[in-house]
Amino acid sequence: MNFSEIKSLDESYVLQTYGRNPIAIDHGRGATLWDTEGREYIDFTSGIGVCSLGYANEAWAKAIHDQAMKVGHISNLFYTEPYARLASRLAPAAGMAAAFFGNSGAEANEGMIKVARKYSYEKYGEGRAAIITLRNSFHGRTITTLKATGQDHFHEFFFPFTEGFRYAEANSMDSLLAAAGDDVCAVMMELVQGEGGVNPLNQDYVQSVAKLCAERDWLLLIDEVQTGVGRTGSLFAYQQFGVQPDVVTFAKGIAGGLPFGGFMTNEKCRNVLRSGDHGSTFGGNPIAAAAANVVMDSMTPAFFREVQEKGEYLRAGIAKLESPCISGVRGMGLMIGAGVQGMTHRELKDKLMAEGLLCLTAGADTLRLLPPLVITREEIDRGLAIMARVMGA
Ligand SMILES: *Cc1c(COP(=O)(O)O)cnc(C)c1O
Repeated sequence: MNFSEIKSLDESYVLQTYGRNPIAIDHGRGATLWDTEGREYIDFTSGIGVCSLGYANEAWAKAIHDQAMKVGHISNLFYTEPYARLASRLAPAAGMAAAFFGNSGAEANEGMIKVARKYSYEKYGEGRAAIITLRNSFHGRTITTLKATGQDHFHEFFFPFTEGFRYAEANSMDSLLAAAGDDVCAVMMELVQGEGGVNPLNQDYVQSVAKLCAERDWLLLIDEVQTGVGRTGSLFAYQQFGVQPDVVTFAKGIAGGLPFGGFMTNEKCRNVLRSGDHGSTFGGNPIAAAAANVVMDSMTPAFFREVQEKGEYLRAGIAKLESPCISGVRGMGLMIGAGVQGMTHRELKDKLMAEGLLCLTAGADTLRLLPPLVITREEIDRGLAIMARVMGA
């Protein structure tokens, strides 16, 4: 099918809930993609931070094939090796005790919220279930995670939302203390707010929040759905902030492109959810877990260094353009945001796409870049050359 045939079927038969880009992607290799009309693109999106190993990664594809030919699904009523092996690699590397596997970021956050509320209920009883989240955060699209998201425009239409969320300004202990109360059981946050505009939190603030959580026995819940699994140049971003969460979630990049997500708890919380308290039919699917094990093969100190160096190289390259459209570059590792001025972030994204570079937007005015972690310097240079053409000084 060509693009117009695909688009016509989509518009006729698919709920139109997305502002789609006007191209259909056909295939890719590394960090380069081709659309159905044969046009080539450098990819600075990895499918919203998912395709961490790029496209058509041989080891990844082989692991998926081999596992599909053994057993593709069997449910959590049975043990499988890819699942147990993945947990045994992920938890120690993250300094956590044990993992639960589901299928997406929102679902992972739902599980994390359940841990916080049950931990508090069993220890302190009813009336201590409120969770403080941050303004400008994003935690997902379910009824509960929409309410956990600290942006008012997500709190429309779908009433009644889950109760028990309060919001504090990021990087302000005063605001956090103003939201505090006897009814609080946890603080939940992203360390680099992704959808909100690629805003890294201050390290001092994050450490102060962790300290306050420890003093009040609030659980520290860290949403690493976007920042996790190498994206910021460490397995999890909290490892660069000098804090350890009680519960952490992950999803996007974990399986390199298959649907997979989950959370890990520390020792204190490992027995909060017991048999019958939580579950998922597809969670920990052996094919997705086999793919995630290939992603884990890459999670080495040398790889993290590469991600940090390539991130610095890309950020410096954008700054060097001295583009009148850009008002500042920020981020960690290969999670990069650039403020857009003089036009909207979507207009800039569209212009870059027309010249062969795929980018994302975030917040009100941010161009967001989440390239595959395996992107080469040559591909970065080609992306920067397109940026120079479209938005150079
Ligand atoms: C993408 C994202 C989510 C939601 O993940 P889904 O897989 O779309 O449910 C939650 N939290 C953060 C920080 C995210 O970036």
